[in-house]
Amino acid sequence: MIDTHSQHQVILTGNGLTAQIMALCLYHAGCNVLWLAGKPMAGQEKTAPDNRTTTIHQAGMKMLDALGITPLLASPAWPINRILVSDRPADDRISGQKKDVYKTDWPMDWHHDQPMAHVVLNHDLQQACNILIDRYQIHPKQVNITTINKTGRRLVIDSDGTEYPFDLLVICAGGRTKLIGQAGFRKISQKAGQTALVGMLASSTPTEHTAYQRFLAEGPLALMAMDDRHFSLVWTVSDQSADRLMALDLPELDSELNRQFGEQAGQLRFCAPPLRWPLSPHYVRKIAKDGIVLAGDSAHGLHPLAGMGLNLGLADAACLLDCLMQARKRGLTPAHISICDRYQAQRQAEILALSATTQLLNRWFSRPEGLVRMVGGVGMSLVGRSVIMGQLKQLAMGGRLSRPQLFSGKLPQ
Ligand SMILES: Cc1cc2nc3c(=O)[nH]c(=O)nc-3n(C[C@H](O)[C@H](O)[C@H](O)COP(=O)(O)OP(=O)(O)OC[C@H]3O[C@@H](n4cnc5c(N)ncnc54)[C@H](O)[C@@H]3O)c2cc1C
Repeated sequence: MIDTHSQHQVILTGNGLTAQIMALCLYHAGCNVLWLAGKPMAGQEKTAPDNRTTTIHQAGMKMLDALGITPLLASPAWPINRILVSDRPADDRISGQKKDVYKTDWPMDWHHDQPMAHVVLNHDLQQACNILIDRYQIHPKQVNITTINKTGRRLVIDSDGTEYPFDLLVICAGGRTKLIGQAGFRKISQKAGQTALVGMLASSTPTEHTAYQRFLAEGPLALMAMDDRHFSLVWTVSDQSADRLMALDLPELDSELNRQFGEQAGQLRFCAPPLRWPLSPHYVRKIAKDGIVLAGDSAHGLHPLAGMGLNLGLADAACLLDCLMQARKRGLTPAHISICDRYQAQRQAEILALSATTQLLNRWFSRPEGLVRMVGGVGMSLVGRSVIMGQLKQLAMGGRLSRPQLFSGKLPQ
């Protein structure tokens, strides 16, 4: 059966945050869009409380403002004005073993009067996008694409056998979808046997708009202020340690966390058992060809240490909007080859830079005690601190390599 209702020029797939934001961008591009959002996966339809947060950099916040998302957030985005980074375990200082080498527990500390980033609840962001999606009468179809046909007439086929022709296919279906390979893209796995424990923490002292990142032997432990008394936690550990930690009861887990993080942010307490998130970072060198573009986690899977995954997805959506608008001005349709070429050219450098930086930071500093970690520590203390500080600061503020119009807070005309 062929879907003959209309000639859909652009087909969008996926139902995560990238797909929602992409749908809004495609709406502003004035494209004729069919959104095949997929069926909720087993467990997705449950309404379990979701306290996961996303840190959005400064440029990304301008984009959310321009799209009209920010005023619709149920709770305001929490500004981050200070970032502290440490490359050493808290108990090094307590035991005094390395006092002579380590003068301070947080060697990198930078502060800005203007917020460097904002922390937003994922759930609030999804709800805000949904309000606009309803307002613009965008109607996602709950069908899964099963097949992509690139030879002859370009079309996708859903699980019922319905065929949908496309001029441009935008895949925002996460990092695990088989559609990436089916569309002819090659995903390189950077998996390192790490799991993130993700949760919400209450603090005994005010959070003071601060984000912390402590690089420990098994991975970074990150805390982001999400309101005056709560932090959002992303604690990267080995898969084996995740098993051990998840078996602890909450008071035991609290003391393990406080021992590993130290006292800088007051006494920390889990508000609920953490979620367990196996980490599968990946890299895709080419993300656009033959009328198909990848965006969001389908195009790049970063280690969460920099809090940049969704920020890159925002840049993907904003860049594709720029490409479509430029093509339109020249009288070209979304089928034109220049769109994929331009999108690939605009996204490649930033994705490569961020994948490399996050991989390097994760592997360099998150090593068991020993030579490599010592070298890492000395490098951070004496040689590389300003370089790494510059990198992390750029990560926090965003928009270094990518300058789509929406990142300056304007919808492209
Ligand atoms: C622990 C952790 C903390 C993070 N913190 C931050 C942060 O602070 N800041 C930040 O910017 N990023 C952060 N990230 C990254 C960010 O969460 C992701 O980059 C982002 O959620 C990716 O969204 P997505 O829509 O691209 O993919 P996903 O969220 O994976 O959504 C893709 C959706 O598509 C659906 N789908 C799959 N196959 C099909 C199909 N065939 N048809 C239709 N639909 C399909 C899937 O079911 C899924 O729901 C973090 C990630 C982790 C793991």
